[in-house]
Amino acid sequence: MPEIAIGVRELLAVKFGPRNLSRTMTHPAVMQQGIQGHKDATKNRPPEYQREVPVESGWVEGAWHLRVRGRIDGLMDTGEYILVEEIKTTRAEDPLNLLPEHNQFYLAQLILYAYFVACDNPDRDVQARLTWWHLDTEQEIQIDLDQEQIASGEDLFRQLATEYIRREKLRRERLEQRNNSLGSMEFPFSSYRPGQEELVSTTALALEYGQDLMAEAATGIGKTVALLLPAIAWLAGAPADAKVFFLTAKTSGREIVLETLKHWPDIELVTVCLEAKERWCTYPDGDCDNCPLGQDFYAKVAKLIPKLMAAKLLTPDLIYQFAGIEGICPFELGLEAATQADLVIADYNYAFDPMVQLQRFFGWNKIPAVLLVDEAHNLVTRGREMFSADLGKKQILDLHRELKLFNPSLSARFKELNSIFIQWNKELKAQGTRQLLLDKLPRGLPAKLNRLAEEIALSGYDSPVLKEFIRRLVRFNRIVQRLGQEHAIYLERQGGDTVLNLFCINPGPLLQKQRQKCTAVFFSATLSPGPYYRELLGCREEYLDLSLPSPFPRENRLFVHIPGVKTTYAARASYYPAIAMYIARIIQEQPGNYIAYFPSYAYLQEVASLLQYELPGDYQLHLQQSGMDIEERQDLLQRLTGPGANIGLAVMGGLFGEGVDMPGEMLIGTIIVGPGLPMVSPQQELIRRYFDEQDYSGFLYSYLIPGMLRVVQSAGRVYRTPDDKGVVVLLDDRFRQEGYRQLIPQYWQDEGLFTGNWLQRIREFWEENTGDI
Ligand code: SF4
Repeated sequence: MPEIAIGVRELLAVKFGPRNLSRTMTHPAVMQQGIQGHKDATKNRPPEYQREVPVESGWVEGAWHLRVRGRIDGLMDTGEYILVEEIKTTRAEDPLNLLPEHNQFYLAQLILYAYFVACDNPDRDVQARLTWWHLDTEQEIQIDLDQEQIASGEDLFRQLATEYIRREKLRRERLEQRNNSLGSMEFPFSSYRPGQEELVSTTALALEYGQDLMAEAATGIGKTVALLLPAIAWLAGAPADAKVFFLTAKTSGREIVLETLKHWPDIELVTVCLEAKERWCTYPDGDCDNCPLGQDFYAKVAKLIPKLMAAKLLTPDLIYQFAGIEGICPFELGLEAATQADLVIADYNYAFDPMVQLQRFFGWNKIPAVLLVDEAHNLVTRGREMFSADLGKKQILDLHRELKLFNPSLSARFKELNSIFIQWNKELKAQGTRQLLLDKLPRGLPAKLNRLAEEIALSGYDSPVLKEFIRRLVRFNRIVQRLGQEHAIYLERQGGDTVLNLFCINPGPLLQKQRQKCTAVFFSATLSPGPYYRELLGCREEYLDLSLPSPFPRENRLFVHIPGVKTTYAARASYYPAIAMYIARIIQEQPGNYIAYFPSYAYLQEVASLLQYELPGDYQLHLQQSGMDIEERQDLLQRLTGPGANIGLAVMGGLFGEGVDMPGEMLIGTIIVGPGLPMVSPQQELIRRYFDEQDYSGFLYSYLIPGMLRVVQSAGRVYRTPDDKGVVVLLDDRFRQEGYRQLIPQYWQDEGLFTGNWLQRIREFWEENTGDI
């Protein structure tokens, strides 16, 4: 007999759930007031009055047994009858009229409790009372249920339990159908690419044993299909509420998943692809509680869910269309659909960011899940952002001034905070520095910030500056709760402002904690060196590891190093002419499309000003500009990869350095100028110091690995498919040094980094391959 155990609220939601969308988080201070209100309301009750009494009942229907548990606010046996009391606190002037839908919910809850108590005491008279306790006036309104209402409990319980079981049956039937269909799931191509089968079997093994997997596999191996196959198959043996999350930071990443799923048209899998809130939100400055797209939200969603489930593959466009039909918020519809889905495609932040993480999956309602983390090397930087926070003096001072008239007591809180910053400013000045590292936050500051958040929540005051400040404060307070040795706390003068920073140096432990017990598969073309990524991505100690070589023919690739070039900051100006000349010579050997990657825009501009005079006749020169938007980027990409001969100058690690696919003739060569080390900055220095103290090499972790990651990613633009042919040229003598060489991917090293007569070698390469590209 299938047995289901649920709480009474879950049962009531079948019929008495909210109508409109509400995203207002109840501040802990407000919840605390509610708890206190319960105590105040019952402080004069007689000694026999019992508080928080657990209660349970069950419903059997056919083979199904539903157990429902709850907790009654107050129970009192007067001898004559048993009184069941539910207490609700409010600040509303007339709670009976103001909250009809809440009242309905609370009345139904009371009726069920009275019914449960009556079942346990069949010979006793049971009375039921709903008490509204006013938090400000400390007055109570008591509503005693009549006998007819109390007697309706059995019918209500039957109705709700029957409906709940009906829905649960449908859900389980669907899961059974899904699981049966997954049995027929096969690798969708006639043969595996080299390494692909190994990736499938290692992923299946990792999921079977619940171990993390670090999978490094070059572009072109077909990672997405090789990971989705075992991950989706894992669902068949997993608990009913299990899900697979495909986490990707790029639109291109999610499109590949959607395309891949089309290879299995017969599986009964429901997939939801989530879009960022800012892309979907029609009222970005509005608030969700008062948004017209939140009206009657839940009733409309309930109507849509069967259609969504039937559609199976819910792309952002489709969700947007469905939302439009019912006039509801597409973002929130996407989230609701995700609760029903088997596979969710989303950005990293939905699983990891403490501000955005989907609580329904990873927070209060933890579910068994597998996280497939695409291009996982990017999660290091993203993780640092997710677990960092800051607060600026200017905003605090502005709010102190703004609130003076409207709310003097709140204004005084901002003044108090501002005085701490004034003191810090004096210290910065006295030390003649723009940055100051703090050992810890001043004593009492976290408590002050919590009190401030409480007072803002209770004040009811609203303004755009305050809204923006609250967003920052909430993040700041959440990061304060997570502060540990992975963080550095420092002050910084930024323009005219003084900013207090909580900077996350090592996101690994926090990323691991945030995903709870979910198994993670980290995969990328660049996960070397392993210890660095395992530490910074939060891989568990028990893990599987896989590193696969490029599946593409080695004769299609040529890696060349041109000696005699220095690109260090001090030396670079002397080499601008040489670099311009080398680029011109390289691209002259074979007309086509090339990109030269530089460490900065300034560097790129200097070389561009010389290259324009050296360019072979029919070449077009294109430059990446700082701050390009999506359209400008697309436009440049089209020109750069279009017909004819084009040379683009771009910045390593920028818009054109990663996440853009330029297969075939769209790109036949890259020239990489320098090892792409990050600029020396207070944050990079903090990273260096932290890892030095942890007995790792600080320079390696803060500069060398991030720099060489950019190099490898930039070079990787050339080889996207088995037929791609092209050259990668490295310019800088440091590439020959041991520390740098070790970070060049193994397959480059295996194939040899050519260092002799480079021009001759490039010429031969193209002679061997001409006509084939
Ligand atoms: S459209 Fe925007 S404001 Fe409206 S409910 Fe959706 S996310 Fe909230």
